[in-house]
Amino acid sequence: MENKDKKVLIRVQNLKQYFPIKKGFIQKEKLYVRANDDVTLDIYEGETLGLVGESGCGKSTLGRTLLQLYAQTDGRTMYYGRDVDEIAPDYVLDILKSLVDRKKEYFNLKEKEVNVRKQYDALPDGDEKYSMRTHLLEAEKHARDSFLDIVQLIGGFFVAEDLAPISDILVKEYKAGVEYRKLKEKLNDARVAYEGARSFQKEKGKTKEQIDAATSNALSQIEKQEEIIKIKEKELEEIRMEIYKLMKKYESNPDFAKYEVYRDKGINLARLTEEESRKLRKDLQLIFQDPYSSLNPRMTVGQIISEGLLAHKYFDKNDEKMQNYVMEVMEKCGLAPYFIHRYPHQFSGGQRQRIGIARSLALKPKFVVCDEAVSALDVSIQSQIINLLLDLKEQENLTYLFISHDLSVIKYISDRVGVMYLGNIVELATTEELFAHPTHPYTEALLSAIPTTDVDNKKEAIILEGDIPSPIKPPTGCKFHTRCRYATDICKKVTPDFEEVRPGHFVACHHKINL
Ligand code: SF4
Repeated sequence: MENKDKKVLIRVQNLKQYFPIKKGFIQKEKLYVRANDDVTLDIYEGETLGLVGESGCGKSTLGRTLLQLYAQTDGRTMYYGRDVDEIAPDYVLDILKSLVDRKKEYFNLKEKEVNVRKQYDALPDGDEKYSMRTHLLEAEKHARDSFLDIVQLIGGFFVAEDLAPISDILVKEYKAGVEYRKLKEKLNDARVAYEGARSFQKEKGKTKEQIDAATSNALSQIEKQEEIIKIKEKELEEIRMEIYKLMKKYESNPDFAKYEVYRDKGINLARLTEEESRKLRKDLQLIFQDPYSSLNPRMTVGQIISEGLLAHKYFDKNDEKMQNYVMEVMEKCGLAPYFIHRYPHQFSGGQRQRIGIARSLALKPKFVVCDEAVSALDVSIQSQIINLLLDLKEQENLTYLFISHDLSVIKYISDRVGVMYLGNIVELATTEELFAHPTHPYTEALLSAIPTTDVDNKKEAIILEGDIPSPIKPPTGCKFHTRCRYATDICKKVTPDFEEVRPGHFVACHHKINL
């Protein structure tokens, strides 16, 4: 799913989100609601990706899982908005420490995949082969995950016969890096507290000399910490030089470049601990559907917007700069500065949604999930909020996942659109392409249901028979076969691949239309 001109911000691979159902007395089998099943998707920096589908298809679950509000059941969710070094998650240390064993494990998984493929290829077409295909896909996925876990961190070093010395030096770098970043965080906290203390003294009417005297101790502590950080920085540089020299040793290996291309600084959100996810929460924000229940009625607008700023140590609670900053954000979101001391119940639905947007944007996020963000609003207000979201996206270089069941809203706001059915993305293309050439029968049916005022171009509405099947026991093969007017025997048995039919246009269907 590469698009060479654009930078991937989020890469989702084989994401599964299953929610277990409590077992009853007579029920033998453990059951799950399969809200998302094998979703693979790239989200590019600066784009709005619309996600559309009937209610209950798993759109909101996908949005929330990407933000790690739910721990995902399986799959990889890579985030490229920050370097993995910056967060230094525990899972990275685990992998670096066990490189030798992991490489062995990868070769075992690869061998297993090759064997399953041989068995699959030897079978004649029929039910046995169809069920074997599921095993084959699983085996491929396990081997691929194991490979990516390693090469994304070590790249070309994968060619080394003995990974032990590489493991040692990379662990050394990781540990020095963690120490360095902890010191930097401490320094940032000290600076925030220093600014807060100065504002507090100023509010009490102290002169500049008195303020300098009262905060001089804190300032000299900050200067000392800066010195220590410089020393640590140098140590880290020296370790990196050692790694560079080691790399030179392997560069002549013909396979080095082949593995080096996999090296990247992405963060696997699915592997983060709660504490690590918390650090990233400011980058990854959610705008809720309901502007009534998502705001704390006991807090003023100013408190609602500054809550996250204090939690993420952007400002000290005494810092006078915070109020100015909050008012700036309010202005950007179309809220008058004097609203700062008012409570949510004093506002209309549209204004409350603006407060919700201001709360998210104050943290300068990179990726925002807008979960049915305009569905609860009057139509006239909807367009104002959509235009606000579009303006803010331009100004702040935001990336949106815009979830809606309303195709006309999706068409207006999105650069690309993903169509979801029963937990799977069945079609993905640029908005123009998807609306001009819907290639999946489900997309065709959704588009035919959009009301049109064009009398010359009246399309026949395709009625989707029956309800969406249960996500607990979804239909076999293509999940849409129970409602699809093009379904044949193979659709009932074989899950279609998600294939690229035109550049950037992906579809999962055995009998694609409009090709
Ligand atoms: S795979 Fe078959 S059932 Fe599924 S959408 Fe395509 S034609 Fe319809």
